[in-house]
Amino acid sequence: MTTTKKIKIYSTLSKKIEDFTPTEEGKVKMYVCGPTVYDLLHIGNFRGPIFFNLVRNWFEKIGYDVTYAYNYTDVDDKIINRANDEGVTATDISEKYIKEFEKDFSRLKLTKHDHNPKVTEFIPQIVKFVADLVENGSAYVVDGEVFYSIDNFKEYGKLSGKKLDELEAGSRVEVDSRKKNPMDFVLWKPAKEGEPYWESPWGNGRPGWHIECSVMNQSIFGDTIDIHGGGIDLIFPHHENEIAQSEARNCKCFSKYWMHNEFINLKDQKMSKSLGNVIKGRDFLDEFGPEVMKYLMLSTHYRSNMNINDDKIKDTMSGLNRIYQSLLNADTVLEGDFSFNEKVVNPKIKTEIEKQNPIIANSLNDDFNTVGALAGIYEVVRLFNGLNLHKKKINEASYSTAKYFSDWIRDFGKLMSLFNEEPLQLIGKLQEIAIKKRDIDVAKVESLVAAREQARADKDWGKADEVRDELDALGIELQDGVAGKAWSVKF
Ligand code: AMP
Ligand code: ZN
Repeated sequence: MTTTKKIKIYSTLSKKIEDFTPTEEGKVKMYVCGPTVYDLLHIGNFRGPIFFNLVRNWFEKIGYDVTYAYNYTDVDDKIINRANDEGVTATDISEKYIKEFEKDFSRLKLTKHDHNPKVTEFIPQIVKFVADLVENGSAYVVDGEVFYSIDNFKEYGKLSGKKLDELEAGSRVEVDSRKKNPMDFVLWKPAKEGEPYWESPWGNGRPGWHIECSVMNQSIFGDTIDIHGGGIDLIFPHHENEIAQSEARNCKCFSKYWMHNEFINLKDQKMSKSLGNVIKGRDFLDEFGPEVMKYLMLSTHYRSNMNINDDKIKDTMSGLNRIYQSLLNADTVLEGDFSFNEKVVNPKIKTEIEKQNPIIANSLNDDFNTVGALAGIYEVVRLFNGLNLHKKKINEASYSTAKYFSDWIRDFGKLMSLFNEEPLQLIGKLQEIAIKKRDIDVAKVESLVAAREQARADKDWGKADEVRDELDALGIELQDGVAGKAWSVKF
């Protein structure tokens, strides 16, 4: 694929599309806020890992050397509460759910992160960082608790666009007479009875939420990174506070670009436990498999709100099916005993791929427009499927065309960690899901298919057509059956 290095990114900080220029030539340092590990993650939590995986892979594809850190928040009230409920330690809970996440992550076959820092591994660095903030007057200590003083950071609000006076007027934070400004936030807090704690100059305690990301960034990358990512809910206060902490200490730009993925809703509603409409990523993976999850996430632009409902899942399966069907057709041709010869590749396929390569690259360069990139793939898939090479006698030209096409799809797919499964298996899995979802009576379908065969053998064309219509009404197709079947479910 032809590539250029002209990436444009929408940055939440400037609220503009900007040309990407790295802080260090040829390198990208990126950090994405990961989960608080107290439970299995819901499907929304997977949007970030799946999208930023593409970001990382695309940067690498066009020649950057990428270092990507994705953290685990393993000190948090939710973890401590769960540990208390279950009568185990907070570490038992966090380690358990990190392992569970890693299982899902490896099922998704995403590119491994270079760093998965945990808060508990950075306590001495956190204590030092907080002490530096106290020392330079950006933070103050009251009764063993350390607060960040936002009045001392003139640019507070620059990421979220919130103005300090509006924040104070609209804030529903509890009045805490110890704070100089109601919006000051905790950097270090004393441990309550039974909570995990670490020693510090301010007594035994634990870090507040925001400080961890400033410190882990500092420890892994130094003062400035190129890209900081996360879901939009993190813009305020989490990322606003990260900027305040890091820039007040280092007096340098903390992150050049800020990228935020929009939320996932379920059936037009925010996912929330109280509404009872949370889908765990694990359950989705068990039901639909990793390819469906990745394709679903990437077929909506990351800055658009994504609504998951039955139609959306059906469209996803249908799109995936079409692509894998083309790969299956190609594989059928590749069973022929020929060698690849680029000179005899079907010129229409070659021309279309050469036309789409820059279109796809431009889409990805344009703030990672995965929707545009996938549209380009479809153009080529449609053309290839239309050739019906798998139904014709295999020769050097059809073999070479199938190879050229299939290598191209799989190569592109690697960017998204998609389209590299075994086609027959994947299509079989999609069929299985569709049969279950639509409650298709397989025995009835098989007997109708047999009845149609019989009618055809009897040359009873009227009857054969009648049965065919009946199958059609059930959503069954008689061509392109997979895995030895004479039929398949239509998408
Ligand atoms: P948390 O464990 O709540 O800190 O969330 C981990 C990551 O998932 C953060 O980057 C959140 O912004 C992101 N996230 C949480 N809920 C959703 C959602 N419904 N859709 C997309 N991303 C989400
Ligand atoms: Zn963070």
